[in-house]
Amino acid sequence: MGQFGTEFCDHIAIVRYENGAWQAPSIEPLKPLPMHPAAHVFHYASTCFEGFKAYRWDDGKAHIYRMYDHAARMQKSAASLRLPVPDIDMFVGMVKDLVARHVDDIPLPPSSLYLRPTLIGTLANIGAAGAPSSEATLFVLASPVGDYFSGKAGPLKLLVEEQRARSTEQLGSTKTGGNYAAALGPTLEAKEKYGVDQVLFCPHGDVQETGASNFLLISDDEIITKPLDSTFLHGMTRDSILKLGAENGYKVNERNFTVTELLQLVKTHEAALSGTAACLSPVGTLVYRGKEIKVRDGSAGPNTAKLRKALQDIQYGMAPDTHGWLTEVS
Ligand SMILES: *Cc1c(COP(=O)(O)O)cnc(C)c1O
Repeated sequence: MGQFGTEFCDHIAIVRYENGAWQAPSIEPLKPLPMHPAAHVFHYASTCFEGFKAYRWDDGKAHIYRMYDHAARMQKSAASLRLPVPDIDMFVGMVKDLVARHVDDIPLPPSSLYLRPTLIGTLANIGAAGAPSSEATLFVLASPVGDYFSGKAGPLKLLVEEQRARSTEQLGSTKTGGNYAAALGPTLEAKEKYGVDQVLFCPHGDVQETGASNFLLISDDEIITKPLDSTFLHGMTRDSILKLGAENGYKVNERNFTVTELLQLVKTHEAALSGTAACLSPVGTLVYRGKEIKVRDGSAGPNTAKLRKALQDIQYGMAPDTHGWLTEVS
């Protein structure tokens, strides 16, 4: 397997929205999409996406993780961008058809099939900066992937960014391309200047998230993370870890905290990033105002490992799926 996201199955699922309605979805060979150069997405960034995984178990079947929740999140993203909102049944049908077609291409755990539904505005109108795209395309890419951080040894290092935000107030919880464009410059600068892996965005001292992962603090008996609001992306991995944490006796403390508090809390709490690609990954070091601050002793902590395993055991079919998070496809 190549680097994460560079290898693709040779089909996509695709559907177009035209004349006020979704047309019939189909599975098509993977090839370039013909697009009008005036397409809304190119000029006004009318785009949103999802990312989730299907795992192949020993039973030879695919098991898709939290597909319905991801479908609902794409609906929210689409609505916030004033794009046509895909029906849940249509979205789910497209994903299942594509996965069924490629079950045998799914590598065994810890590898998986990463699914990337993407919705774009295709209306050909460069005068539509202030108007929604009344035409759209939804397609689903499938990509066999290994472990996201497999090339990376040890816990992550994050720059604490106290000024700049990752996104805007109104698009923080929308999974839209522009947010990654906004985070890219600060992240590349930080990598170059401080050798960090990611930037932890804390505008006005409010600890939010990194460019593509949520941020959690974890002790032996408590998980602290920001409560859901419009400023950050509502991760399914975050939600899963909080539910599994509560069941495993952790007190789940969803509350806002400042950079000042963060610097105190990392003396006693582990820190971790959560996301579909990264699962739950330990953070060992923060760079704050040019100084390196260790999270506890800087090593990966046992609670992060324990919660990560609890989630992966469900995903890999080694623990019962008591929440109905998985959808079987054969
Ligand atoms: C996708 C994403 C996450 C993680 O979401 P999951 O549903 O857990 O994969 C977190 N933050 C941002 C900005 C994201 O784009």
